[in-house]
Amino acid sequence: MQRRTFLHAMSAPLGLAALDRAGLVPASVRPVSAPAIRTNQRSSVVVIGAGAFGGWTALHLREMGHDVTLVDAYGPGNSRATSGDETRQIRCGYGDRLLYARSALRAMTAWREREQQFGVALLNPTGRLQLAPDWTPSLKATQSTLTTLGVPFEALTDGEMRKRYPQMNPDGMGVGLLEPGAMVIRAKQAMLAVSQAFVKAGGTLRVARVQPSTVTGGRLVDLRVDDGSRLTADAFVFACGPWLPKLFPGVLGARIQVPGRDVLYFGLPAGDQHLAFPNFPNFSEERYYGFASIDGRGFKVCPTSGTTSFDPDVDERVISATEVRRARAYLAQRFPSLANQPITESRVCQLENTADEHFIIDRHPEMANVLLAGGGSGHGFKHGPVIGGYIAKRALGEQTESDFDHMVRLAR
Ligand SMILES: Cc1cc2nc3c(=O)[nH]c(=O)nc-3n(C[C@H](O)[C@H](O)[C@H](O)COP(=O)(O)OP(=O)(O)OC[C@H]3O[C@@H](n4cnc5c(N)ncnc54)[C@H](O)[C@@H]3O)c2cc1C
Repeated sequence: MQRRTFLHAMSAPLGLAALDRAGLVPASVRPVSAPAIRTNQRSSVVVIGAGAFGGWTALHLREMGHDVTLVDAYGPGNSRATSGDETRQIRCGYGDRLLYARSALRAMTAWREREQQFGVALLNPTGRLQLAPDWTPSLKATQSTLTTLGVPFEALTDGEMRKRYPQMNPDGMGVGLLEPGAMVIRAKQAMLAVSQAFVKAGGTLRVARVQPSTVTGGRLVDLRVDDGSRLTADAFVFACGPWLPKLFPGVLGARIQVPGRDVLYFGLPAGDQHLAFPNFPNFSEERYYGFASIDGRGFKVCPTSGTTSFDPDVDERVISATEVRRARAYLAQRFPSLANQPITESRVCQLENTADEHFIIDRHPEMANVLLAGGGSGHGFKHGPVIGGYIAKRALGEQTESDFDHMVRLAR
């Protein structure tokens, strides 16, 4: 396939400027602010999976002028997809993982711009409070990364947290790192908006299940659709999240694990908005994280551990009594006003975890025109508008930031 030449347009100048100032951006990855330059070559690309990775990739490819078909077995924003949950968080607090923090910072800008472009309310500026017993190495690393990137934060003592957030009992938590710029994204709505923008831009959206089919000369020729028909293209991007190990058991079966996660929403007491947006930030600690109630849905509480292997096609999405009991015990300690409140909603979602929690974005070892994109590992959604541009370039064989390429390679 002939490649078109584009200049990089995916970088939010703010994040890179801050990195640049810190001397952390090698010349090879400095952003070029000139608009994209196109040749006349048009490629046909099929993107499989309309979640955070695939949906945004399809939109970027279409915006670059390619013929793009986006195929999803259950449709964009579906409730089986990891991206089909109601809400996801975006924050730059990432321990020592500077490249993800930098990507998240770029994504914050991109989300704001896309929200305007789509004309749909997608973002809630909640802030995020990371709780820890003391200045753990991970919290120190987060502080250092945020400082490097110029992301505002506040370090609170337990005494300060008691004063500022009387609705929370910080017992056992000596430090709270507040990132005021963190936000909650309406995830399902966002994925619907992305697919609508894709169709409006001239992309083709199909609800169908597909599988790789004919391979000739080390290239995938076509996909087999469940109805027996075929789909051909120059290039294919498989962004199938937790389905990737099923589709490519040989290459990804041992690399991506798919555990289930219960997500619980507890109703607030009548007339009490102390734990509703915007009166309380997102919170996280070792065992649990969650969000204040948004749109009256309830206070979101998620355990950081959960069931083992989950099948995203067939498993029932019913929360376990054990997780309910554990969450209540946690609330009784940390948010006592919710301890006896009823569950108002619940979801069961699944992760697609790699061992080191890095994404996997790389060529299939036996099919040169197939890009695998997944392994979100519990933190992929926020990066969508940026990672979609990155995956699009990788699918076309264009130059990308080599430090990121290295981090997300298959063979690691
Ligand atoms: C409980 C929980 C909380 C999380 N919280 C956050 C958070 O706060 N912030 C954050 O950034 N990230 C978070 N994540 C992670 C984030 O949600 C994921 O990394 C991201 O949504 C993964 O997107 P994806 O596109 O890879 O997969 P998916 O969203 O699962 O999309 C894959 C799509 O592929 C389709 N598909 C699969 N197989 C086929 C096939 N054969 N043919 C056609 N279509 C197919 C599916 O229907 C699906 O729509 C969380 C994850 C979980 C589980």
